[in-house]
Formats: sequence, C-alpha cells, structure tokens
Amino acid sequence: MVEKSPVAMASLKGENFKIEIVNDMVLKIWNKDRSVIGLPLEKALPELQGQPFIDILNNVYQKGEPYYGLEDKALIEENGKLVERYLNFVYQPIFDKDKKSVSILIVASDVTEQVNARESVKEINNRLAIALDASKLGSTEVDLATGIMESNAQFKFNYGYLPDEDFHYSDLFNAMFPEYREPVKALVQEAIRTNGIYKAEYPVQWRDGSVHWIQAHGRPRYDENGKAIKMVGMTADITDKKLIEQRKDDFLSVASHELKTPLTAVKASIQLLNRIKDKPYSSTHAKLIEQSDRSIDKMCLLVDDLLNMSKMGQDQLNLEKSTFNLYEMLENSCSHIRFEENHQIFLNGNRKAEVFADQNRIEQVVTNFVNNAVKYGKESKEIQISIEETDDHIKVLVKDFGQGIPEAAIPFVFDRYYRAGHLGKSYSGLGLGLYICSEIIKKHSGKIGVDSKLGEGSTFWFMLPKNG
Ligand code: ADP
Repeated sequence: MVEKSPVAMASLKGENFKIEIVNDMVLKIWNKDRSVIGLPLEKALPELQGQPFIDILNNVYQKGEPYYGLEDKALIEENGKLVERYLNFVYQPIFDKDKKSVSILIVASDVTEQVNARESVKEINNRLAIALDASKLGSTEVDLATGIMESNAQFKFNYGYLPDEDFHYSDLFNAMFPEYREPVKALVQEAIRTNGIYKAEYPVQWRDGSVHWIQAHGRPRYDENGKAIKMVGMTADITDKKLIEQRKDDFLSVASHELKTPLTAVKASIQLLNRIKDKPYSSTHAKLIEQSDRSIDKMCLLVDDLLNMSKMGQDQLNLEKSTFNLYEMLENSCSHIRFEENHQIFLNGNRKAEVFADQNRIEQVVTNFVNNAVKYGKESKEIQISIEETDDHIKVLVKDFGQGIPEAAIPFVFDRYYRAGHLGKSYSGLGLGLYICSEIIKKHSGKIGVDSKLGEGSTFWFMLPKNG
C-alpha cells in the first residue's frame, strides 16, 4: 500500500529513526534513492542537522503524540545546494502492545508549488499596489448586476469620496457631467460586446462643487457562459493636464491673434505703397514705410518672446556673464523710449554700480519692465528707474504711475501665459514677457518681484548677487 501510495510515505524505526519503508514519492521529496533504506534518518539526510525535524520526531516518539506540519519549510540537498521545499505532513507514532513507541509513520505531500504561486501572487499584488499608489491610479471592480464597487482609496478620492464612504456605480455616473453619461455608458457597452478595453475622459463634479477631469480605462470580465459580470477599471485625475491643454489652446489663439494684427497693418501699408509706387515720393510714402517698420518691430518682439519661451521650456538658456556698468546699461537700453514715446524716464542711483551678469539678458528684463510701464501706464508720463545697493546685492526698480495690478492678480503675473484683466481696457500681449524675465533672473540666482496698488501704479524690481 505504501509503495503504491500517491502521497509520500515512510516509516522510521526505533529512537534512531532508522529508515525502514519508503516509497518513490518520499524519495523524490528527499532527493535520495533506495540506498537510504536501513540508515538512520540523520545519516541519510545530513542536511537535516540544524533544522527542527529531528527534534520534532524525538518529541513525537517520546510523548507518543502525532505532529502535524502545515507548509513547514525544509531545506533539501540537491546537486550540492540546499533547496527550499514546503511540506504538509504528519508524524504518526506507532506503538507496541505496551503503548510504547516503536516507530514513526510519515505521510507527507510537497506543496512547494502552491506556496510559491501564492507568494508570487502576493508579491505581484504588492507591486501593483505600490505602482497604483505611486502613479495615483484609482482601481475598481464593479459587479455589473448589483452596481456594487470595490475600489481603492484613490479611486474614491478621484470622485471626491473618502476611503471609508460607500461608493456605487450610480454615484460615479451622478458625479459625471450629464452630457458625458450616455456616451460613456455606450463605450462600456461596446467594450462588453467586443471584450475590449474602453477608454474615456470626462469631467466630474465633486459634492463640494469643484470640477475635476478623469481619465478612465476598463475591461469587462465574463462568467463561464460568456455573460459579462464585472468591469475592472482604472482612473486617473488628469485635471492639471487638461488645464495645460486648455491654456495651450488659448495661448495659440492669442498668439495668432497678436501676430495677425501687426501683419494686417503691414499688409495694408504695402498695398497702399503699391498703389502709389509710381507717384513722386511724398510724406505718405514715408508714413507708410514707418508704419510697416513699426508693425514689423512688433512682430519681431512677439516672435522673440515665442523663441525665448521655447528655449526656457527646454532649459536652454545659457548665460554669458561679464562685469558691466549697470547705470550705463540702463541709460542706453531706455533711449528708444525717450525718443519715441511721450514718456519721461528718470534714472537714479550709483553711476558706478557694476554687476557680473549676462548684459544682454539683463537688458532684456529692463526693456520688458519699461515697455510694460509704457503699455500699462499710457495716462501717466513718468517712469522712474533706480538702483539700490546692499553689501552683496544690487537691486533695480522700475516704477510707473499707471493702471496698477489688481491685488488678486499679483502672485500670478510672472506665470507663463498669465495676463491680468484691466477694467474696461484691453492690451495686446502674450503673457510671456514677465515669465521670461523671471526665468532670466532665476538663472542668475537673483530675485524678481512687484509691488503694486490698483490705480496708483506698479514697481517691478529684480535683485542680483553682486558677484554673480
Ligand atoms: P503681456 O504684457 O504680454 O500680457 P507680461 O508677462 O509682460 O505679458 O505681463 C503679464 C501681465 O502682468 C500683463 O498682462 C499685465 O496684466 C500685468 N502687468 C505687467 N506689467 C504691468 C504694469 N507695469 N502695470 C500694470 N500691469 C502690468
């Protein structure tokens, strides 16, 4: 019976546990052949030294009580190496007529594969949980018949629910903007019909009223009759991505509009010039040429901003630093405004002030500040530029007495694409100038900022370390 048994069986005789009977199954577990018959267990399997089995056998033999091992780990020698095996087994004492142990019967089965499989499933689940957590992915399983969902905390969070709150399939559709409900349901049905993956993006409104964008993926699960019973799904909050997309779209439309205006002006001037090209040169010719020139300058500035912005995005802003006289630079960079506009610029500060920085880039920042002061301060004619020095820093301030900036807008004026609203007036621009300035100053390890009061004016400033 032992020989033919599909489970591993062996009998060990006496207190030395001499191997008496073994079957092929037990020899397979032990990785031994029939030559072990007649040897004490310790001799037959020397690797058992230091493992608990001999002690357990001694205990069973002395006390006369069986021992049940459940997924106990044994190290068995295979090709000179110790290999892990997991075993379910019983050590059953066999008694003589005086109830004294004479031998022990071992019945065992090797459950290594099951244990390993379970461990690897556990490991995979752990990794999945880490990945879901790290990528902030919500995961869920919906019972299609009952609408009951099993979701992780992130999934509920994506719809504005707390981890311990109930969240049903119907709650998900309630949160979804109404016009998306039917199309999303249709996508789910299509995935069920084709055993495919559905992918959807939709806005949801949390119970606190806030709006969030969700990207969802799901795949149906079927029973043995081919009926869809579950939907396994993942969601991610893509609100930030959507906002960026939206801002990019808005930006493109602003940028094309901004370029179109001077372009139309040039085109009109050229058309007029064309009409009078054979007439004697007059003041009209001169005016049209000047007008075109101004419009082309405007376009060049816009295109420069666009190019600068893409450089910043790729972190390609390289500085060429040198020591230069700040006062002279400020004086020169504003000369065009003195002549072209009605504004007056007053420059104050140490005429000998020097900095170690990229002169062209710093000039770009100052020009931007001054151009903005002119643009947003049409009604006031005065612009004050001053230099202030501390031991290790040098500060440049550009003060205008124009519109000023609404308090709520101040923290954002240096953001990319940001344009504050100015009551009743609209100004052309891309919302890039100050962003570019702040990137240039940051690259110099300096600071940039603005103090402003609505209706009174603004003071834009930057500060550079003296020694670069
Ligand atoms: P743009 O002028 O092209 O809109 P900027 O980045 O130069 O972009 O400026 C961002 C915003 O900051 C402007 O849209 C404007 O609302 C505000 N701003 C900048 N300078 C001034 C200023 N001197 N006075 C009032 N508002 C200003």
